Amino acid sequence: MARRKKIYEGKAKVLYEGLEPGTLVQYFKDDATAFNAEKKAVIDGKGVLNNRLSEFFMTGLANIGIPTHFIKRLNMREQLIRQVEIIPLEVIVRNVAAGSMAKRLGLEEGAPLPRPIVEFSYKDDSLGDPLVPEEYIIAFGWASQQDLDDIISLALRVNDWMSGVMFGVGIKLVDFKIEIGRVWDNEFPRLLLADEISPDSCRLWDIETGQKLDKDVFRQDLGDLADAYTEVAKRLGVMPSNVTHATKPTLIN
Ligand code: UDP
Repeated sequence: MARRKKIYEGKAKVLYEGLEPGTLVQYFKDDATAFNAEKKAVIDGKGVLNNRLSEFFMTGLANIGIPTHFIKRLNMREQLIRQVEIIPLEVIVRNVAAGSMAKRLGLEEGAPLPRPIVEFSYKDDSLGDPLVPEEYIIAFGWASQQDLDDIISLALRVNDWMSGVMFGVGIKLVDFKIEIGRVWDNEFPRLLLADEISPDSCRLWDIETGQKLDKDVFRQDLGDLADAYTEVAKRLGVMPSNVTHATKPTLIN
């Protein structure tokens, strides 16, 4: 079989050319990185969990009319997606102060915000993904004012749906990051939800105990990351039956 053409390799995923034009295969790796890749580890089973969880979120969002790049899951680690032009922004939605916002404004982690807040970072690892005002985005041509209005309303719809779904399984959606892609249907540009939605890109706290069930478990050495993601997957009913998180072979006598 011919080797697939690799289009891009990031920190947690690899993109390969899909069979049909305009499609890609998104492969979820087990690699975990934090603090702009200063901290790295391989977490057995993380890629399988994120593939399933991202499928679950993207499918649910598509069901309420959010356009996404997701086409179908292909296997344990791969999904077929539409090829998009990624807008070089991290779109962050926050419900509760945490992470960089808490630090920047001197807010206590966990302080509720007056309303959901959408903010943008410029996607550039070498610069540490700096926060950028809308003025920069428009002036530098990364997106138009109309795109930004559409992105904000899309991000807030994602937030409403995700918050409700997570609340239903006893989890608070503190914040999350999404990425937006552009596709061209004939001459007309359309925006799609792209990349992934998984506990790598969200903050998820157990409502009862406050336990963290997201990548902060890795960032802050709070325990086993795959256990935390498995808990999220189990609560949402998307736990793959044959995920092997303990992957060591066992000797059969
Ligand atoms: N986030 C992400 N990728 C990034 C930066 C942030 O997925 O490169 C997510 C992060 O997991 C959190 C939210 O976006 O759910 C807000 O992150 P924040 O700005 O607080 O940055 P952090 O504290 O993660 O550096």
